[in-house]
Amino acid sequence: VRLSEVTKVFKMGNNVVEALKGVNFSIKAGEYISIMGPSGSGKSTLFNMIGALDKPSTGRVFIDEVDVAQLDAYELAWLRCRKIGYIFQTFNLIQVMTAIENVTLPMIFAGMSRDEYMEKGMVLLRLVGLAERCHHKPSELSGGQQQRVAVARALANDPAIILADEPTGNLDLSTGEEIIALLKQLSTERKVTIISATHDIKMLNVSDRVVWIRDGRIDRVEERDKLKISI
Ligand code: ADP
Ligand code: ADP
Repeated sequence: VRLSEVTKVFKMGNNVVEALKGVNFSIKAGEYISIMGPSGSGKSTLFNMIGALDKPSTGRVFIDEVDVAQLDAYELAWLRCRKIGYIFQTFNLIQVMTAIENVTLPMIFAGMSRDEYMEKGMVLLRLVGLAERCHHKPSELSGGQQQRVAVARALANDPAIILADEPTGNLDLSTGEEIIALLKQLSTERKVTIISATHDIKMLNVSDRVVWIRDGRIDRVEERDKLKISI
C-alpha cells in the first residue's frame, strides 16, 4: 500500500475540515502496522483511504502499484471483496446469520461452490477456535467470540491485507489480547499485511511499525525496536 500526498477535505456548508493534510507513506507486504493518534486526528479517514472505502480529495492511493482511483466499480468491488479483509470495532456481523453463515458470505459473493465454502468456513472457524460455535448467532456469542468470527470472515477470500479499525475497542483486556495474538499469528504465519487503527497500547508490542497521526498529518513513524524504549 502506498499513499502519495493524500489529502481529504470534508465540506459541510461553510464548515471545511481538512481531515488529512498530505500523507505520504508506504506499507510493505506482510508488515504489521498500527496507526495511533488522538480522537479526531484522522485515523478513520486514513483507514478509509487505505481500504478504498473513500476517495482522497487530492493525492493517490496505490495497492499493488495500482492507483485505486483508476479502478471501475467492478474492480473496486473485487478489491474490497478479494484483496482486503475488514475488521471493525463493533464486529459488524449480520445478526440474523450464524457464525458459519457470516464467515461463508464473502465466499458466496466470490462465487465459490457450496462444498468449497462450507469446508473453508469450518477451517477458518477452527483457526479462530470457534468450530463448536458454528451454528450460534452473534447474540449468542461473547464480544471476543464475535470478533473472532469477524476475523474468520475477514480471511474468507485469502486477502493480502487485513484492515482492522479499533479491533479491540469493544473488548476487555484479556479478550483484546487474544484478538491481538490472533492478528499477530496471521501476520507471521500467513504473511498477511495487517493495518490497524488503534488506541490499544498492547497492539504496539506486536507491530512492526507504529504510525502516529496528529491533526491530519503523520507526526512520526516508529520501528518496533525503538518502540520498546518509548513505551
Ligand atoms: P479519528 O478516526 O482519528 O477519530 P476521523 O478521521 O474520524 O478521526 O476524523 C478526522 C476529522 O475529520 C475530524 O475533525 C472529523 O470530525 C472529520 N470528519 C471525519 N469524517 C467526516 C465526514 N464524513 N464528514 C465531515 N467531517 C468528517
Ligand atoms: P473513531 O474515533 O472511533 O474512529 P469517529 O467518531 O472518528 O470514530 O468516526 C466514526 C465514523 O463517523 C467515521 O466513518 C467517520 O468518517 C465519521 N465521522 C466522523 N466525524 C464526522 C463528522 N463530523 N461528520 C460526519 N461524519 C463523521
